[in-house]
This record gives sequence, structure tokens and C-alpha cells, in this order.
Amino acid sequence: MSDHYVKVKVQLEQMKTLGEDEGKQGVDAEEHLQEPSPPASGSPDPSSINTSGGDASSPSITSKLRGKGRTKQGKDDKNCSGKHISDLPSHGSVVSAPSGRNQNRLEHEQTLHVRGTGKVLQGKSESNGNCVTVHASKNVQETRREDGLKLSQRKRRPVTVDTSKAKTSLEALKISIKYLKWKEFPLGRRAACDIYWHGVSFHDNENIVSGQVNKFPGMIDMLRKINLSRAMRTTQELFPEEYDFYPRSWILPEEYQQFSTQIRMVKENDATVNPTFIVKPDGGSQGDGIYLIRDPSDLKLMAGSQAKQGVVQEYIHKPLLIDKLKFDIRLYVLIKSMEPLEIYIAKEGLTRFCTEPYQEPSQKNLSHVFMHLTNYSLNVHSGNFIHSDSQNTGSKRTLSSVLYRLAAKGVDIKRVWSDIIALVIKTVIAVVPELKVYYQAEIPPGKPGPTCFQILGFDILLMKNLKPILLEVNSNPSMRIEHEKEVSPGVFEYVPSPVDEDVKVGVIRDTLRLMDPGLKKASVSQSKAGGFEHKEEISVEGEKQEKSLEEGVLPSLCLKQVYPKYSKQFNCLRLVERIASLFIRFLGVKGNMRLGPTAFRTFFRTCKLSNSNFTMASVDILYIDITRRWSGTISDSREAGMGLQAFVEAFFFLAGRRFKSLVLREQVVSLLELCEAQLESQPGGEDRRSVSCSRALPRAVKTQTLGQANPQLSSPAPQRRAASQDYRLHQRLKPRMLRANVEN
Ligand code: ADP
Repeated sequence: MSDHYVKVKVQLEQMKTLGEDEGKQGVDAEEHLQEPSPPASGSPDPSSINTSGGDASSPSITSKLRGKGRTKQGKDDKNCSGKHISDLPSHGSVVSAPSGRNQNRLEHEQTLHVRGTGKVLQGKSESNGNCVTVHASKNVQETRREDGLKLSQRKRRPVTVDTSKAKTSLEALKISIKYLKWKEFPLGRRAACDIYWHGVSFHDNENIVSGQVNKFPGMIDMLRKINLSRAMRTTQELFPEEYDFYPRSWILPEEYQQFSTQIRMVKENDATVNPTFIVKPDGGSQGDGIYLIRDPSDLKLMAGSQAKQGVVQEYIHKPLLIDKLKFDIRLYVLIKSMEPLEIYIAKEGLTRFCTEPYQEPSQKNLSHVFMHLTNYSLNVHSGNFIHSDSQNTGSKRTLSSVLYRLAAKGVDIKRVWSDIIALVIKTVIAVVPELKVYYQAEIPPGKPGPTCFQILGFDILLMKNLKPILLEVNSNPSMRIEHEKEVSPGVFEYVPSPVDEDVKVGVIRDTLRLMDPGLKKASVSQSKAGGFEHKEEISVEGEKQEKSLEEGVLPSLCLKQVYPKYSKQFNCLRLVERIASLFIRFLGVKGNMRLGPTAFRTFFRTCKLSNSNFTMASVDILYIDITRRWSGTISDSREAGMGLQAFVEAFFFLAGRRFKSLVLREQVVSLLELCEAQLESQPGGEDRRSVSCSRALPRAVKTQTLGQANPQLSSPAPQRRAASQDYRLHQRLKPRMLRANVEN
């Protein structure tokens, strides 16, 4: 190892220690960093982290490639979450137990540090069915603890998992279940299972009344490109600086005129500016239907009912390059619970590389799909795709290998990681309000139903200046652990992919460990016994769970809690969630997702919002005006009414009228406080607070999450960036229909 690499390694370890200390949450296993591997023979020069590239030709972007298919808001924002998060993942080699095929293939050395004992377990982990045995000298305490653990494992009935609908995650799931010695039901089970693993949506199995499902209702719909863009825009309006990681987007076809007018104005103001945009169909995935344009007139819009729904988005033209190639990051994120919000991030992820050297967009190269799109599913069909068994070469690599490479170049990867964590938390905060509406519609309070968790796939691009940009969030990230390989011309076969297996099996296995119903019961009964009535304690409970999991014989968790761990920095961003909680409260009929005119009036009356300036007649006009524009061509009367996004718009409008002198965010906080105070003072006000994603949750927890304004937000802040409320009210265009239960 060269001196330089030794230095980098030491630096990384120091940063890691710092990060962990600051979070006061150590990881038991010492995850020692890999030595940076010398450039693989034939692989490009590692020093070429820049934005230049050569020219190359490629098929047209439309060709069928696969056989199958602001202005400143002031200091408040900074106080809120601008703080740098010091929580570098233990990148380098994540000590994960060898899984499945690898496990059978490999015998490898492991070094484990046992928390508190200072003891190093060193030895070989070997394949033993699906169980890994670590041979090591143990002290008496450890032996007792392990014996105790084995005993308690023996006493407990194994956790049952229904895998009948797991689809492409099945293989990774099977490996994980075997590893944990849980019981799999591949054909489903008459009796209830503890966990239901669905490949697509919450509805893959109908009528589940207990246990846990690995999908939230409505997640697919919520994360479609249009809905995600809308949710991000709402939060961008409130917190422009906090949400500047999502590219500027316009909804198609509704906002086409706005888009073309704005671009024309930009070009007129400065003739040297020639921005590029990326057009994405709403329901698309794997790069399907995506193309780049430089002029609004190049948009392939179709008229009438054939109008293509989608988004057109600012194209990030200066991505960070490695080996002259554009790449993006696939990060796995677990939403363990929505109420209270618990988010985990996988310490290891994947990076997907383009297969043609990058050049900034020009009219000539706009259609070079292998240069501009990082989708694995596209690039795998390029002649240049490199399948590699190594984690740090080839067209798909581990995130840690890329970060390590960047660190070796002097990049502050601790900062990059902290920005990525912030991006993830903020994005989840943006989508949770609508998800809560879906949840209460699907499983209203009092109706028996499962609880939910979900693994999401975040696609993140690093800009040349290292700023992470959110491209999209996948509700069903591929958990396949094989990849397609062309075995003979035109014939593709699935072959094992060690990189995918290492990362994905770890994510599934540790998600299961965190969702272990035994742990949940223990924590609930503990909390009952201890009488917890405070949100912070949930965070401690979450950490306790993590720790207790890590104290066993299994490897340390590859999933790291980031929320509520960092809730202090991000809680004040949860304003829309408080609006959603008002909305849900007035929804009334169980299973409903839209507010009728009477319920809207009731909201006004109950919150005492009407006065001589805003009469009940104006309330009705407001309702009709907003609802008409948002619901557009609704043919199904069951869908009529005011959805959450329309309600949020009405709320912003009212807040603007009532608190004219403030900036939007403060207007909204003030109106929320007013409404919440009115509701609190109602007889039984507390009890009717009904956001219900955790039916077993103590009331005080809900109150804390939803009812309290952050004092930081009440302080004066600089001017608002947006146009007047009235202008915005009329600018926002009708949304795509929100549909419940259409995930399949
Ligand atoms: P899909 O769901 O079809 O994969 P994405 O939104 O992930 O759609 O976009 C596909 C690819 O296009 C991304 O992986 C990325 O390489 C590229 N891309 C998407 N949005 C942008 C953007 N705003 N700027 C630059 N590249 C982008």
C-alpha cells in the first residue's frame, strides 16, 4: 500500500470515528476500510475525475434497446437543518455476513469488535447451511450472553414470512430468511404470517388484517414523477433553500405554456444561455421514453386524451465524472414506520455508470443515451458495459468503492455523505403527508390491518461540485441479485451478480431484523412499563433496538437510523404534514381521500377562520375554484372533491390573506397555530386528532409530532421569493388525478 493510500485510509477512519462519536451511536463491528485497489487492468485512469470526455456515437435515444422489458429565506432555514450531519457510514468494507451464493462460495476472514468488551473476535466465517459461525476466543460474559441469546431464540417461535408475492426479490429474501432461521411460506399460509413480503404493492395480498407488510398503500402513486415533483414543489415553496436538491420541474401537459414562456424569457435575457431539459413520462421507469431537449418546441406533446403526462426537468449538465463517465447512486432507504417517522439508510449502495464518455449536452449528442442516462437497464445493452465480479470496477460498483476512490482524490466524502442523508430525510418529509392520507383511507382507525414498512430506492446524482441531486425515488427498487448477460448474440440469460448480492441481501436481511415482531413487542411492552409518553424516547427506543440487534451473533446492521436520530434538525420542515393532519381530521367518511364542500365549510367553522373579510360565501367560492382546477376532467364522481394538494393550496392562500406581512412559511405556521389552538380548545379536541398510522401510539406522541410549531419558524425572516398568493393560486394548474388503490 502506498504512503498516499495509507494516509487516506487513516483519514477515513478518523472521519468515521468522528461521525460515530458525534452521533453517539457506535457500530459494533469494526468495519475496516478496503485498500484502494489499483486501477484494474484495462480500466480507465482513476485520476480522471473531471467533466471532460471524448466523443463517441451511440444509438438514438428513442431506439428500442432491450429485448424485454431563490431567494434567501434567512437564517431560520440554516438553523432548521442546515447543520452538517456528521455520520459517515462505515464505508469501505461493510462487514456483512456472506450471503447465499457468496456464502457458499467464500470463506473469509472477519474482524468483529464487540461493544464494550474491547474484545476482538477474529476468525473465519464459514458456510454452515445458512448460518455463519465465527470461531473466536470468548470471555465468559460473551459466552453467557450468546447462550442467553440462543436460548431466547430457541424459545421463541420462528418469525413467519409469506413470500408468495415476493416476485423478483424472492431470491434475496429466501437467503435472508434462511440466514435468520425464520420460517418461509412460499405458497402463502391460511393462518396469519408475521411479515408479508410483496413484490409490487400493498395490495398484492388482499385482506391482511395483522402483521406487517413491506409496502405502504399509495407509495407507487405518490412516487410517480408528477406526484413527487408536486410534493417537492410544495416544500420548495416553503423552504426554497432546503429543497434546492431537486431539479426545477414542470408538469406536462398542464404547465407546458409556463415552461416555454419561462425558457423564452431566460434566453431573451441572456443569449449565451442555452439550457438543456430532460423529459420523463409520468409512469416510466428504466429510462423508457426519456429524451433531452434544448427548445420547448421539441417536446413531443400530443393533444387531447393522448396528451402525454410527465415532467420536463432542468438537466444537470455538470455531473461528477469518474473515468470520464457519468454515474448515479442507488441508495436503499427503509421507512420503518410513518408514525412516528423512522428512517434508516443503507450504508452500502450501488453506483451505475454510463458506458460512453460524457460530454456536456450539445445538439449533436442529445440522443446519446449511453452518455446521458445512467440506467443499468439501458447501458447493459451497450457493447461497452463491463460486468465485473469486483466491487470497484465495471459498470456497476458499490457506493463505498466510489466514495473511497473519491476520498483518495481528496474529496470530503464525510460532507458528501452528510448531504445525502439530509436529502433523504427531506425527501421523505415531503412525501409523508400524502402517504398519510392514503394510509388512513386504506386502514382507517379502528379497522384491523397490518402495519407497514418499505424499502425505497433513491437515485442520486452528484454534481461536479459534489452537491447531491435527487433524480427520483423508486417505490419498487429492483432487488434482483442476478444480472442479464448476453451469452450468445441476442440471447440474454440471468447470471449471478456478486455486487448486487452483497448489497441487496444485506438490505433485506437487516430490514427483516429491524422489523422482527419479537423486538417490536419487547419495545412496546418496555415502553408501556416505562410509561413513555414522549417522542424523544422513541428515538432512544429505536437506537436500543439497533444496539440490541447488534449485540447478537449476527453482523452489525448495514442500515443506519437517521430519523428520528436527526429529528431536531429536520422537524421544522414538517409543516405540510401538519396541514395534512387537519385535512385528515375533516375527511370524515372512512376510506375517503377527498374533502367535500360541507367538510371544507366545517373546517372553516371549527377553526373559526371566516370573518367579515372572508365570509362563508367566499369559502364556497374558494372551494369550487380550487377543486375545479385540480380535479379537471373527473368522470368518476367518487373521486370528486378536494384532495390534499388542493387543500394545501387553499391553506397557503388563506394563510397569505390572513398574515399578509409575513413570508409564506411564517404565514403557514401562523395559520396552523391558529387552527391547532382552536381544535385543542374544542371539547374532545385532543381525542379527535386522528392521524392514525400508528393506532397503538400514545396520544402524546402524535401531539408532539403534529401539533407543535417550531419556535424557530415564528421568527421574522427575509422576503418571500414567490409571487403573491393570489397569483400563485391561479397559476397552479390542475393535477393528475389522485387514485387510491391503483398500484398494480
Ligand atoms: P427512470 O425512472 O426512467 O429511470 P429517471 O428519472 O431515473 O427515470 O431518469 C433516468 C436517468 O436519466 C437517470 O438515471 C439519470 O442518469 C438521468 N437523469 C434523470 N434526470 C436527470 C437530470 N435532471 N439531470 C441529469 N440527468 C438526469
